[in-house]
Amino acid sequence: MKGKVPELPEVETIKNELLPHIVGRQVTGVTLFWEGIVHQPSVKEFYSRLTGQRLTGLTRRGKYLIFSLTSSEVLIIHLRMTGSLLIGQGSSEPPKYTRAIIHLDKDINIFFRDPRKFGVMRLVENADSIVGKLGPEPLGAGFTPQILAQRLANRTAPIKALLSDQTFIAGIGNMYADEALFAARIHPVRPGRSLSSAEIERLHRAIQRVLWSAIGNKGASVENYFRPDGTPGTAHFQFQVAHRLGGKLCPVCGTPIERITVRNRGTYFCPHCQPQNQPIKNSPPSSGQPTQAPTL
Ligand SMILES: [Zn+2]
Repeated sequence: MKGKVPELPEVETIKNELLPHIVGRQVTGVTLFWEGIVHQPSVKEFYSRLTGQRLTGLTRRGKYLIFSLTSSEVLIIHLRMTGSLLIGQGSSEPPKYTRAIIHLDKDINIFFRDPRKFGVMRLVENADSIVGKLGPEPLGAGFTPQILAQRLANRTAPIKALLSDQTFIAGIGNMYADEALFAARIHPVRPGRSLSSAEIERLHRAIQRVLWSAIGNKGASVENYFRPDGTPGTAHFQFQVAHRLGGKLCPVCGTPIERITVRNRGTYFCPHCQPQNQPIKNSPPSSGQPTQAPTL
């Protein structure tokens, strides 16, 4: 299960495809089949404060969906491991594992489907109380190779762990970290600060290319992710290394893809295209410590 959760491209797709159905709609009620899905405020307050509000917009920050309301409050949804938001019209039955329904006028329902029940809804006055600590948006104008270089300086953690750390950069998880590192030809256990400026530029480009491509393919339906209309995304068909177990070969050089564990996360890479020893050229001064052997 770990590592197959919705990431930026999946959440961005949900935002894009939900938006036209919900903006301007009024919340006529909420049905909770699993009260634990509401983390803030109390369930009672959640009902009373959300009902009657109009949805004025929907944005994404990292892996969070932020619904703006006519009051100054925002509804923040995090799908976590297995959540999806599905649009239902008229009297359509809630799909299996629906934990909550947000009822809107014009007979529209948002079904929060979540088999494993890790998803979270919060109604808060200030979105920053939840998303304020997130790192930069990788597709935002402010995310440049220079910013990435600054954030990598002095970081000893493996680059794979940094890319999936939401306070380092927002929205990337296990799948797209593996894909970006493969595209940039960087070994996942390299310490952040060991990357050369040429590698940082490659990584920056790879992150944006991999994410834009996955958004273009409407996200990756490896496990439980569905688009709001219930159809799967196709981004996983483009994966070069992520989840390529079972003797899959590197699409570039034909070497078998390897799986290691980096900070408890299954990590896929090509040992030939992503050599562990950093290139000598263009390396910034670093600690000189050897990189760690992969934990098998
Ligand atoms: Zn290869």
